[in-house]
Amino acid sequence: MATPSFRSATQQLRRQLGSRIVLTDPAARFEASFDSSKISFLPAAVIRPRREADIGAVLVLANRHRVPVTVRGRGTTLMGSAAPVRGGWVIDLRPLRRIRVDVEAGLIHAQAGATVGDIQRAAAAVGWFYPPDPSSKEYCTIGGNIACNAGGMHGGKYGVTRDFVVALRGFLPTGEFVEWGTATKKFSAGFNLRDLWIGSEGMLGVVTGAVLKLIPAPAERWTLLTSFRDETAALRAALMLFRQRVQPAICEFLDRQSVLCAERATGTAVFPGQAGRPVILLELAGSAAELREQKAQVLAWARAHTLAHRAARNRAEAETLWAVRRKCSGAMFELGDAKLNEDIVVPMRNYVRFIRYLAALKRRSGLPIPTFGHLADGNLHVNIMYHRGNRAEARAAEAAVTELMRTVVSLDGAISGEHGIGLAKTPFLRVQHRPAQVKAMRAVKRALDPKGILNPGKMFEPVRIWKFPKVAVHLPWDHK
Ligand SMILES: Cc1cc2nc3c(=O)[nH]c(=O)nc-3n(C[C@H](O)[C@H](O)[C@H](O)COP(=O)(O)OP(=O)(O)OC[C@H]3O[C@@H](n4cnc5c(N)ncnc54)[C@H](O)[C@@H]3O)c2cc1C
Repeated sequence: MATPSFRSATQQLRRQLGSRIVLTDPAARFEASFDSSKISFLPAAVIRPRREADIGAVLVLANRHRVPVTVRGRGTTLMGSAAPVRGGWVIDLRPLRRIRVDVEAGLIHAQAGATVGDIQRAAAAVGWFYPPDPSSKEYCTIGGNIACNAGGMHGGKYGVTRDFVVALRGFLPTGEFVEWGTATKKFSAGFNLRDLWIGSEGMLGVVTGAVLKLIPAPAERWTLLTSFRDETAALRAALMLFRQRVQPAICEFLDRQSVLCAERATGTAVFPGQAGRPVILLELAGSAAELREQKAQVLAWARAHTLAHRAARNRAEAETLWAVRRKCSGAMFELGDAKLNEDIVVPMRNYVRFIRYLAALKRRSGLPIPTFGHLADGNLHVNIMYHRGNRAEARAAEAAVTELMRTVVSLDGAISGEHGIGLAKTPFLRVQHRPAQVKAMRAVKRALDPKGILNPGKMFEPVRIWKFPKVAVHLPWDHK
């Protein structure tokens, strides 16, 4: 899509930081023009900073010349949040990826471009554990996770990214350096703007570094696979388990359509002998004593409430199951070449009403809507699949997503549990939020970013992202 050139500002930036940091070649600009949503807007330049201070310099100049700036980690967001819709400059945080563990304090210091996988491995090497576990963890950066308040399979027991951020540093949209908190687990000095940055989707500041809390690595893990007659039975059973105050580290639900897609894509049966059944994958984690007690409770529950159950024989078998689960999302493209991927949240008390509504939506829309997700925190991934070239299907998908969002909010849920708003959910921001709430958010944005430099065009202006053409590229995390 055509975007302004900002030629003289870009030349000035190149003179200031050098041509190794400020890239203007077509390949670098194209690579930074889209994220996982594959909607492309060409930036005028890509900045790969050598030092955190480079980012301040970029923002000061951007304010002077009113150049839009979009920050990017790895571009794994599915929401179009990292796509530079107004062109301008993209800051690629990947070069800043230093990690240091403070073993005594149980803290990890990471630069924004470090991947979550690298952070988890650095912690594990010294017996600590960083629980937030997005399926994209080998690619996505901690800066991106903070900006989206990313979650993952561990959310129910341990929490999401927000629950592990102790302190942040970086730059305000105006280019001023700030630190929110220190490397201490307590900090009550002044307004908590650290939490304002978490989930702000690169619109209120640029995170350059974070201090994250670690917990002791669980000594043991135990994985159980369970199958059910139908989706309602699965969700009812899950509620019975939670009622007993069992807190699985992971509790993943896959409906029938998701199971079939994952099986076809990986060539591995999710639960041999239980083809076409919805499943729940459970993992307990803790000390040997904790696990002994919880295992007995979970096995008694499984005998009473599931159609079949089977514990993974060893860690390798458990890992195979989790690998199949992680492939779930990409595997769905066999059902259509387009997907509206909605990471909604429903309160537990409304699980059964929601799953019945979903069955009716599938019937009414005539579209496959495979659904899977994290039952311990109500975050379900509802995937509306269709063929872009088929007008009737595209219309049905748009109607289905609109209805889905209204229903989720009417059930006291959330239109996003971990992906954020970006561009993709802009038509639904006002379904979730009252006018006064949107007004307050816009006031915060104006206060911190008076010239509207940072990630403009996101969150507040409704865009029907599914209407945009997509670039034909294969990303490393794409299926096949
Ligand atoms: C296969 C797959 C699986 C996924 N699974 C999950 C999952 O389980 N859970 C989950 O929560 N998400 C998941 N996601 C979504 C995505 O990985 C997350 O949203 C992730 O946090 C994005 O990180 P990133 O580094 O790629 O950020 P990007 O996509 O580059 O950017 C995302 C947003 O963060 C902003 N941003 C990035 N870095 C910074 C920074 N340093 N400072 C300020 N703003 C910044 C950008 O401007 C943009 O608004 C998945 C995506 C894919 C493709």
